[in-house]
Amino acid sequence: MRTQTAEAARTDPVSTDVAKAEPVPTEVTAGAPSAPLIPLQVSGNSLSPSRAGDFMTCPLLYRFRVIDRLPQRPTPAATRGTVVHSVLERLFDLPSGERTLATAAAMVEPEWQRLLEAEPELAGLFAVDEALDGVAGGGAAGGGGEIGGGEIGGGAEQAGGPDELAEWLASAHGLLERYFVLEDPNRLEPAERELRVETVLDSGLTLRGIVDRLDVAPSGEVRVVDYKTGKAPGPGFEARAMFQMRFYALILWRLHGRVPRLLQLLYLGSGEVLRYTPDEADLRATERKLLALWRAIQRATETGDWRPSPSRLCDWCDYQALCPAFGGTPPPLPASSPIPGRSLTPEGSS
Ligand code: SF4
Repeated sequence: MRTQTAEAARTDPVSTDVAKAEPVPTEVTAGAPSAPLIPLQVSGNSLSPSRAGDFMTCPLLYRFRVIDRLPQRPTPAATRGTVVHSVLERLFDLPSGERTLATAAAMVEPEWQRLLEAEPELAGLFAVDEALDGVAGGGAAGGGGEIGGGEIGGGAEQAGGPDELAEWLASAHGLLERYFVLEDPNRLEPAERELRVETVLDSGLTLRGIVDRLDVAPSGEVRVVDYKTGKAPGPGFEARAMFQMRFYALILWRLHGRVPRLLQLLYLGSGEVLRYTPDEADLRATERKLLALWRAIQRATETGDWRPSPSRLCDWCDYQALCPAFGGTPPPLPASSPIPGRSLTPEGSS
């Protein structure tokens, strides 16, 4: 990776590093891009960072998720990530000065309840009714329980019972504690939160995603921020982690004509920050990579060759029972693929 400040972030006190390295935007609108940031469009040729990552990890995994549309089993780790993201989004609804750890911690259980109402099947993660009795009134101010594994790791197990729910809520508090070490939300006024972004490349490929947070400085410089509730990747794996951020940066550049100044991943599981400063050459390379990836997806769609690519990530794959690498047999392919995949220009867009 060309400009990777991750090492500095790992070795320096991260909270001060963040504050010193980047002027903190203090106004929501000053310098913000003037064009609307949510020009959603409908397209059959679309790719998100998650699905691109699936195909790069394992073409068969992509098939199971996108072509077969097989459901994914909810996990405590993924659900906790959703809750923590919601808390961090809503935290900025409060005025500066009121965005404290205690306030954020107190939002965890209401956010969990809100999620549970929207997705009642999550009740299966815990013996919810009994469990809520067990934690009522407790653990709202800090907790700081042991934090589990990464975004993928640590999530395959099913929790259950009041003790597990209490530990799970406490672990969410622990993630928020780490967040407050990494940055002071009272010094920020994000321009956007949970922003849906989408653009159509000249090739016809639509890129879309949801950005956790955009900070816009008075100068107009944009910082793209994403929260990760897992741990930072080990040395040598930072570039792969930053792929998602380059993906977002490419969309924002295409939408607004300005390359984001900084891409920043906050790892709440380990209290580390990865930063990257992209440039146009980076983003052109990202676009070429995405087009090549999309053509590989098209080929697999046309040939039906969705071969498995076993790795350590198989330990967390929901579809082992259907995977030939584990003795399984995939279901027949659906009669019509949800991916048209035939309208891209042959040469790409840049
Ligand atoms: S078990 Fe591994 S190889 Fe099989 S589909 Fe899942 S990720 Fe791919």
